[in-house]
Amino acid sequence: MKIEEIEKKYRITADYHTHSVYSRIGFYYHGKGSIMENVRAASEKGIEEVAITDHGPSDFYGLDPKRIPEMRDDIEEAMKAYPGIKVYLGVEADIVDTPSGLDIAPEDFSLFDFVNAGYHYVPNSKMLVNLFSFHLPISVKTKEKLRKQNTERIVRAILNNNIKILTHPGDKAFMDEEAVAKVCAERGTLIEINARHRHPNVEDLRIYAAHDVKFVISSDAHRPQDVGRYAKSLALALEAGIGIERIVNLRKR
Ligand SMILES: [Zn+2]
Ligand SMILES: [Zn+2]
Repeated sequence: MKIEEIEKKYRITADYHTHSVYSRIGFYYHGKGSIMENVRAASEKGIEEVAITDHGPSDFYGLDPKRIPEMRDDIEEAMKAYPGIKVYLGVEADIVDTPSGLDIAPEDFSLFDFVNAGYHYVPNSKMLVNLFSFHLPISVKTKEKLRKQNTERIVRAILNNNIKILTHPGDKAFMDEEAVAKVCAERGTLIEINARHRHPNVEDLRIYAAHDVKFVISSDAHRPQDVGRYAKSLALALEAGIGIERIVNLRKR
């Protein structure tokens, strides 16, 4: 189905993965928009719910937990300005080698309305070897070893934590999609369809779809104008044969 046809036929009700200026390092803003700007963009697109999910604190551009009260204030202000929309404070936690498997400790989950998690190139994530694995020729044996280690970490993080959405699964780290799909099904963790990244691709989505998992489409917007983008991701899902009733934030117009 063409992108224009998709946009005519379907809409999303919620975007549970957007970044704001709270994803930053020093004076470099990884997320370009303020919370107000992200919410305004979502409201203009007729979305009913939006989440601000900046990167976990171990990320180079990770949020500073000390600024969470400020983020809450910004959210309150945005909801006053756009009363038709529900705004959540989430986080895109990093999957790392800690006992719980995430860079958000279990006791800090209550700081957020919900926690998403994804794999990124951060210290404590086998960053360099995973980064090179996509860009340099590596042996099949090394690749298999890496796949096993990555899968173990991702599975552990899902089993140990109440994760709402596994963001862009398979991007930035080889893993066993079957094993990850099984634990997502068991724990009720949503598989994200996110066309900003190389994974999940159509092939990956077919593997996930063979398991009892639900999906969510997210924009992963790093600029306000990208908040609520969904058509490319939905095109991937349709190509993979995923029934639209399995995508929790999708509706027919
Ligand atoms: Zn991410
Ligand atoms: Zn993201």
